[in-house]
Amino acid sequence: MATIQLKAIPYELQLLHPFTIATFTRTTTPIVLIELHYEGTIGYGEASMPPYLGETQQSALQFFSKVDVAQFKFPLDFEAIHNYIDSLEPGNTAAKAALDIALYDLHGKLNKIPCRQIFEANPLLMPATSMTIGIDSIAVIKQKVLEAADFKMLKIKLGHDNDKEIIESIRAITNTPICVDVNQGWKDKNYALDMAYWLADKNVKFIEQPLPKNNLDETAWLSAKSPLPIIADEAVQRFSDINLMKDAYSGINIKLMKCTGLFEAAKMIQEARNKNLKVLIGCMNESSVANMAAAQLAPLADWVDLDGPFMIRNNPFETPVLKNGKIQLTEAPGIGVVKKNTFNSHP
Ligand code: MG
Repeated sequence: MATIQLKAIPYELQLLHPFTIATFTRTTTPIVLIELHYEGTIGYGEASMPPYLGETQQSALQFFSKVDVAQFKFPLDFEAIHNYIDSLEPGNTAAKAALDIALYDLHGKLNKIPCRQIFEANPLLMPATSMTIGIDSIAVIKQKVLEAADFKMLKIKLGHDNDKEIIESIRAITNTPICVDVNQGWKDKNYALDMAYWLADKNVKFIEQPLPKNNLDETAWLSAKSPLPIIADEAVQRFSDINLMKDAYSGINIKLMKCTGLFEAAKMIQEARNKNLKVLIGCMNESSVANMAAAQLAPLADWVDLDGPFMIRNNPFETPVLKNGKIQLTEAPGIGVVKKNTFNSHP
């Protein structure tokens, strides 16, 4: 009887621009692409592992070696598979996400449906994706903003000492809506509140992780007073974290690499809606695989930040198609990614 076979391919994504946020700078991101082969059909998955999150290509490969994919039978029981994979080891959320994505891709392809259908996500409701501009010199930031003309939303990283100068220099050249990501870079709640009012006047839509993730009380104080929604990113990794943050935030940034993939991300969206929280679907530096997987859920979100493939120069897969700033979901089965002919995954 045919069984699923797993193949893992370590790969290094090269960034178009050095990427700086409040806490670090880097020029590459290690990933592991996986292929699940079943009777001639291939499901693609990806683990993206920015170094500061603690996973490595080695830890991912070691995790995959523990997973008995041959036991998975069709039709796939995603909940049972999720529980099994999650029980093998704590952490390893990106490696777990790679398996989850590849299984959904395989499932979609075998059933000839795009994965968005599984989640009842209507492509007509797809929000525009933001393009992230890292912390840089004002001249480089302006240049990147001009290069991002196809995007209908800009995600601006703040948290150094010239936040207002950055925003003012962008507003001098465009009125494109902005969302702000501070990556825990503000240390004082009063400063954060002053900034929230100042930013609200600048066509800014929300502020992501303004204060350190452990400062729940200060963040709750800020959320209660802020004219802009305060969104949790570093403070919320997985489903169980939603309850821990109580009423400190008005929304959450869900990323497949943090929460082990589509199965748990879909549950988190549902839980957020039950709690009247806003939903942002975000990403790491990723190829089209993890990005297009997240895009299958994106119509269920309020905001979308899926710019990963637009920030790299060596995507092994075709870059998603952007129309009116929105990632296009097609009728292609699975997650809908197409591998470039030039990418040889058989070392
Ligand atoms: Mg963030």
